[in-house]
Amino acid sequence: MSASRRDMRNETKVARLGRAHGGDGTTVNLPVHRASTIAFSSVATIDGAKKARFDKGRVFYGRFGTPDVFAFEEAITELEGGFGTVAVPSGLAACVLPLVAFLKPGDHLLVTDSVYEPTRTSIRQFIQRSGVEVEFYDPRIGAGIAGLMRPETRMVYLESPGSLTFEIQDLPAICKAARAAGAITVADNTWATALLCAPMALGVDIVVQSATKYIIGHSDAMLGLVTSHEPHYRPLREAANWMGYRASPDDVFLAARGLRTLPVRLGQHQETALALARFLEELPQVRRVIHPGLPSHPDHAIWQRDFAGASGLFAIVLNTPSMEKAAAFIEDLELFALGFSWGGYESLVLHADPAHARTATNWAEEGILVRLYAGLEHVEDLKADLARAILKATDSTPRTGADVASTRLM
Ligand SMILES: *Cc1c(COP(=O)(O)O)cnc(C)c1O
Repeated sequence: MSASRRDMRNETKVARLGRAHGGDGTTVNLPVHRASTIAFSSVATIDGAKKARFDKGRVFYGRFGTPDVFAFEEAITELEGGFGTVAVPSGLAACVLPLVAFLKPGDHLLVTDSVYEPTRTSIRQFIQRSGVEVEFYDPRIGAGIAGLMRPETRMVYLESPGSLTFEIQDLPAICKAARAAGAITVADNTWATALLCAPMALGVDIVVQSATKYIIGHSDAMLGLVTSHEPHYRPLREAANWMGYRASPDDVFLAARGLRTLPVRLGQHQETALALARFLEELPQVRRVIHPGLPSHPDHAIWQRDFAGASGLFAIVLNTPSMEKAAAFIEDLELFALGFSWGGYESLVLHADPAHARTATNWAEEGILVRLYAGLEHVEDLKADLARAILKATDSTPRTGADVASTRLM
């Protein structure tokens, strides 16, 4: 990469990286290479390709990658500031790949208690069963993690903010302690993407993310990404292949397309989510708004230090402990679809109970937690929808539209 390219801002990089390099009369986007067989002209060239099959950018057989996938991986690598990226079929596959690539029986693995629940399940079902000792830790442990390090601690798994509960982890402090103990750090950066947080610059060794969310951005494909520095790249690439992971080139095409508009979409998600969060903080039906970008968030200062912004996903805790009322609120929303995979253009809502997935910490909130995702709809329409549904669900007195509109909630 030339010096001038290295100086480009992320907004410029996403417009330029991983593109076709053609001259006159060529397409601006890379073609999709749907391939299993790669054909060779001689025994010598096929044997040479086999020897080099894990080298970056080398085509050998479909499962090892094709030029379109390599170009997208390079774009992500440059955004994250690593040596190489491996694209895998889903975000969860990305979360699990470093565990499979580096852990062996007898190793000790530290995992944040706020980890994405399917990652926790995968660790419990497969990693623990293969003889790795798994220990969950308080996401807010910070430098205190040094006290959990053992000679056999091989890896520390981080996720910031935590899924559902949005604790911001002190990445620099945790990574420093892990490095001193000789442990590899892996961080799930799905919420922020490279545009809002740069985990490698904060000391993380391996960044994993679900491109299903913001990068693809339209809720119509799935993809995961694992970015690392040079010493970890080859073991990750080999593990992905020997596990049989192969990212679909069509899904990579959609991810490359989504990447071009990521900065503008993220900017809008941030603005709308913050406006909704501030609005909801004023509602008496809401006990607490959990959004790292609000001064009321307990980790707001760390978020300000380490993040360039907030994305569109946050949570509220309703005042009511009644699941029936919470369900009435959720189901009455017209502009928030009830579903899991945020990162698209549509606003989403989801009820959740973080307590059952905790072992190192307690989740002791009394009200019901509702996760909200701010899509790209107009913020005033979203506010009106939330206010209407929350009033209707928590107040048994029937109201007319005019009554609702005249309350201070609007
Ligand atoms: C959604 C998500 C994943 C998993 O991604 P998929 O593409 O759905 O497999 C992993 N980590 C976090 C934080 C997520 O939100």
